[in-house]
Amino acid sequence: MVLRAVLATANPDKAAEILGLLGDELDLVPRPRWLADTLEDGDTVEANAYLKAVAVAKATGLPAVADDTVLEVDALGGAPGLCSARYAGPDAGYAQNTAKLLAELTGVPAGRRSARVRTVALLGYPDGRRVVGEAVVPGVITERPRGAGGFGYDAVFVPSEGDGRTLAEMSAGEKARIFCRGRAFRALVGRLAAGEHT
Ligand code: IMP
Repeated sequence: MVLRAVLATANPDKAAEILGLLGDELDLVPRPRWLADTLEDGDTVEANAYLKAVAVAKATGLPAVADDTVLEVDALGGAPGLCSARYAGPDAGYAQNTAKLLAELTGVPAGRRSARVRTVALLGYPDGRRVVGEAVVPGVITERPRGAGGFGYDAVFVPSEGDGRTLAEMSAGEKARIFCRGRAFRALVGRLAAGEHT
C-alpha cells in the first residue's frame, strides 16, 4: 500500500518538483491552507527540513515530506547557505537574491566561482521519527543569469556534471536527473523502502 503523506512545503515551485519526483512513490496531499509557516531557525539544513516536516506532521496527524535546499559559494565563505531564501532581505524574491549574489561576486574570475547546492529531503512522522536523504551537487556561478526554467538560483548555477548549461536552461526532466533535490528524494525513498527510520 502506498504511504499517504502531506507535502510540507508552501513553495509552489518546490511542490511541483517534489510531486514529479515522489508522485509514484507516495500518496501526497497538499499542505492545509490554515497551517502557519514554520519558523526555519535551525542551525543546519537537516534541522530546518526536520522542523518543517514535523510541524506539519504533528498538526495533521500524517507523515509529512519537506526539503531544505541551500546554495554555498566558496568565494563567499559558504554564503548564502542557510540564508539562501532571504539573502537580499527578509522579503526578497528569487530575482533580488540572484542579483545580490552576482553583485557579491563582481570581479571574481571564472576559475574561482565554485559552489554547491545541498538538499536534505526528509519524511517526518507525528511522533518525531524521520527518514532522511541528502545530496550535494557541485557547480559554478555564472556571471549573468541564463535561461527561463526552474526557480531560485537556477539561472546562475551550472552543475559540474552537465554540458555547461545553467539549471534554468534545462528541461524539468534533466534538472530532476542531475540536481540534488532528485538525488536526495531518491535516497529518501530507498531508505524508506529499507525501513531505515531514526
Ligand atoms: P528553502 O529550501 O525553501 O528554504 O529554499 C531556500 C532557497 O534556496 C530558495 O528561496 C531558493 O532561492 C533556493 N532554492 C531552493 N530550491 C532551489 C532550486 O531547486 N534551484 C535553485 N534555487 C533553489
